[in-house]
Amino acid sequence: MDSVVEGNLFIDGEIRKGCVGIEDGTIVSVKKVLEGGRHFDFGEKLIFPAGLDVHVHFREPGQTEKEDFFTGTRAAAMGGITFVMDMPNNKPPTMSRSAIDWKASRVRRKACVDFALYGGIGEHSDISAMAHVCKAFKVYLSGDNEMFVPIEKMEDVLQKVKESGRTLAIHAENPECIKRGEARNLSEHERNRPVECEAEEIGRILEINRNVGAGIHICHVSSSRSMDILKGSDASMGVTPHHIFLSTSSKFTYEAMGKVNPPLRSEEERRNLLGAVRNGFGGIIESDHAPHLLEEKEDFSTAPPGMPGVDTTLPLMMGEVKRERMNLSAVHRLMCRNPARTFGINKGDIEVGRDADLVVIDFREKKIKSYSKCGWSAYEGQMGVYPSHVFLGGEMIVENGEFTGGEGMGDMVL
Ligand SMILES: [Zn+2]
Repeated sequence: MDSVVEGNLFIDGEIRKGCVGIEDGTIVSVKKVLEGGRHFDFGEKLIFPAGLDVHVHFREPGQTEKEDFFTGTRAAAMGGITFVMDMPNNKPPTMSRSAIDWKASRVRRKACVDFALYGGIGEHSDISAMAHVCKAFKVYLSGDNEMFVPIEKMEDVLQKVKESGRTLAIHAENPECIKRGEARNLSEHERNRPVECEAEEIGRILEINRNVGAGIHICHVSSSRSMDILKGSDASMGVTPHHIFLSTSSKFTYEAMGKVNPPLRSEEERRNLLGAVRNGFGGIIESDHAPHLLEEKEDFSTAPPGMPGVDTTLPLMMGEVKRERMNLSAVHRLMCRNPARTFGINKGDIEVGRDADLVVIDFREKKIKSYSKCGWSAYEGQMGVYPSHVFLGGEMIVENGEFTGGEGMGDMVL
C-alpha cells in the first residue's frame, strides 16, 4: 500500500476510528488497522471526503486578471474542494468542440485539483460534437450572454442533450420578466429580477422536459417557491452558499459585493431557503464562484454580477456543523455524494474504489479569508472551519493549512 490515512473516518453517516489504504490514487482498503509506505496519523481528527464544486467560473481564457486556472484550483484546494466543474462563459466562450479542446490544453497544465469543463450551448451549437470533450452543458435561459437559447427552441436542445448522455445545467430566469433598468442597491437589483422570474422559468423548462426526459440541473435556485416547483421532478438542483447565508440586508464593504444573479433575496426568503436546505434537501451546494476585481464592485450600477466562493463554501458549511446548525450527513450529501453521483464523478465517499480525495477537519474556527486571485470575500469578518489537510488522489496538497500541491496535479475528468 502506498499510503495510509488514519483518523476518525466519516463513512455512511457514522464516525469511526480507522485507516484508509491508498494505492495509485485510489482507496483500496478501509480497515481498523492498516500498514503502508507512508502513514499519516491524524489521531482524533475527522477524515471526511473532499468536497466537489460543480459550478465555478475560473475566467481562463480571457479574464485571467480576475482568476486563472492555477489560482482558482489552488483556492479550491485551500477550501477542501478537490473537484471543480468550470463554466464556459470565457472570452471567447467555449461553445464548440475546438474551443473546449483549446481551453482544456491550456488549463490542464495549471490545474491543482481535478476538474471537468462545461460546453456552452447557443442556438447553433453542435451538441453531439461537444459531448466528446465536455462533461456537461450550460445554457442561460436568462439571455445574459451568447449562451442563450429561446425557450421555444429548448425542446430540440433537450433532445440532443439526452442523446449525448450528458447533463444540462440551466440558468433559469425568464428574460421577458427581468427588468434591465439600472439598480443602485441590492433591493433594487432584487426587484429587477424577482423570484417570479426564476420560478416561472423553472416551471416552463420542466414542462418542456417532461416530454423529453433529458438530464437537467437547475443552477443556483434562490427561493423556496422555486424549490417547491422542482420537488417531484427528475431535475437536480443547486443552491449557492450566498443565497442561504446572505440577503439584501447583509452589510458589505461595497454593496455590490453582494450583487449576483439570480439576486440575493430578502432576509425572510433567505431563512426559508436555508431551512429547506437543512431539512432533507436532496440537491447540491454549488459555489457559483464568479470572481471580479474589487474596484469593479465600487459602483453598484456598473458592477458585474458574481462573487467568489469556491474557497469558502466548505468552511462555511463546516462552521454551521460546529455551531450545531447543520449535521455532517447533510454536508456530505450536499457537497460530496450528490454532486459526485449527479455528474458521474468517482469521488464523494470514503469507500474502496473511489478516488482517495480526503479532507482533515479539526473544527477549529478561523477568520474567513480569500484565496482567490480577486482577493476579497463577501464573508470577510465571519468565521469558518477550514480543512487542516487535503489529499488529492492520496497526495497531500494542503498541509497544516499551507498549500503544498502544484500546477498540473489535477486531472481532467470526462
Ligand atoms: Zn454561474
